Amino acid sequence: MLSKSQYVRGLQCHKSLWLLKNRPQLREKPDAAQQSLFNTGNTVGDLACQLFPGGVEIEFDPKNFDGMIEQTRQLIEDGVEVIYEAAFKQRGIFAMADILVKNGDVWDVYEVKASTSVKDYHRKDAAVQWYSLSEVLTLGRIHIVHLNNKYLRHGELDVQHLFRIEDITENVLTLVEDVPEYLAGMEAMLKADEPQMAIGSHCGDPHSCDFKNHCWSDVPAVSVFNLNRMNAAKKFNLYHRGIVQYADIPPTESLSRVQRIQVETASTGQPLIQPHIIQGFMADLVYPLYFFDFETFMEAIPRFDGQKPYMQMPFQYSLHILHQNGELEHKEYLGDEHSDPRPGLVVQMIQDLGEQGSIIAFNQSFEISRIKDLARDFEAYQPGLLKLVPRFKDLIVPFRKLGYYHPDFNGSFSIKSVLPAMFPNDPELDYKQLQVQNGGMAMDTFANLHRLKDPNQRDRIRQALLDYCRLDTLAMVKIYQRLKEVVNMKTNS
Ligand code: SF4
Repeated sequence: MLSKSQYVRGLQCHKSLWLLKNRPQLREKPDAAQQSLFNTGNTVGDLACQLFPGGVEIEFDPKNFDGMIEQTRQLIEDGVEVIYEAAFKQRGIFAMADILVKNGDVWDVYEVKASTSVKDYHRKDAAVQWYSLSEVLTLGRIHIVHLNNKYLRHGELDVQHLFRIEDITENVLTLVEDVPEYLAGMEAMLKADEPQMAIGSHCGDPHSCDFKNHCWSDVPAVSVFNLNRMNAAKKFNLYHRGIVQYADIPPTESLSRVQRIQVETASTGQPLIQPHIIQGFMADLVYPLYFFDFETFMEAIPRFDGQKPYMQMPFQYSLHILHQNGELEHKEYLGDEHSDPRPGLVVQMIQDLGEQGSIIAFNQSFEISRIKDLARDFEAYQPGLLKLVPRFKDLIVPFRKLGYYHPDFNGSFSIKSVLPAMFPNDPELDYKQLQVQNGGMAMDTFANLHRLKDPNQRDRIRQALLDYCRLDTLAMVKIYQRLKEVVNMKTNS
């Protein structure tokens, strides 16, 4: 007997299903981000039930699936017409239908997803659902209920417009024909020894597999999988030809210029420095220099007016201002978690960024896109916001152009790769010393902060957010200053 999710896992990789059934202890524990996704799924699922009110929910009981199945059977027999989390065990599959609705003589199925579109794996998941349920029920239509990313909240949450319902019945009826063969294949595989399955692009498609620690254990921390902008197919091609480390790459292999430099600097251990590229970047800068970084959060269910599902909502920024005389100032903003943080942020940001001087971001397209979003959503401030855009300069440019490449970048130009390579063992610049260590953590932390009741804990968490964002812009200042030193040393030597 397989659950619906186990069947879908088996479609991705037989070995993953085998390991789950036979060596579950090897499975990686979900991290905070995955747990947060899981919680979002539950919240979205509960809200979607309001589309079909008046139903009866089957309580999930992992110790008593048979009880859930019996309860479902009883509700159907009693004439209940809307059932949430209806449970069935048929044709070798244990399946739960998110929402089951009686429609005349047939039952319609609604599967709820927290995404904003229907994915291929949703259709495969629905196909096995149909295969199992159609054994005991006469089914009508099957649908995916997903979030509508065009829905803009105004006032009370409008559940009818928050969701979109897509009928995928025709698609599912085609896919369902393959289910018996796939299922038989999985059942046979599970009776045998651990399948020999090489790693491949299936390890991350459609989901990142939670047995990667096990299957990828022979891939070293630095390997061909770190090669800059190489597509996955080519990386796996190298790997399966026994080319795993940079030193294994034959000189005849076709590599991009960045990849070639990546491999060469790894062998010498020396950075590549091209002062004229760094100088070209510096020559364009106008003092005072505003080192600027946003943090944003996203929520599946909009809480504030003017918010859409999964919209990027800036809630915080850090700003270090470097004056020509070397003086360094710091300014910051962190919105209140109980109200829309953007109006306050916009006003203070326009003021803090002044009238002139370069605004320096690391990978500026994110900051510029958010400023354009704010200009669209806060028309009164549009002129002031749009005036900021031409002042942006991107600190990633001298790295992308290979003005400075350190072997420890490992093919990545993100600030989280550049900073430790340029400043190893500097506790002041070490994200690992912080409670909030990356943008994803900042996003989740702020999105959940409004649930906290303890004011002391709230203050500690807000301070952790401030510490994190401050380091992002301090890191940019330090990187900028180090680049200047490097150029001076090179030109004076
Ligand atoms: S890591 Fe890859 S090969 Fe290993 S079980 Fe997962 S999907 Fe299969």
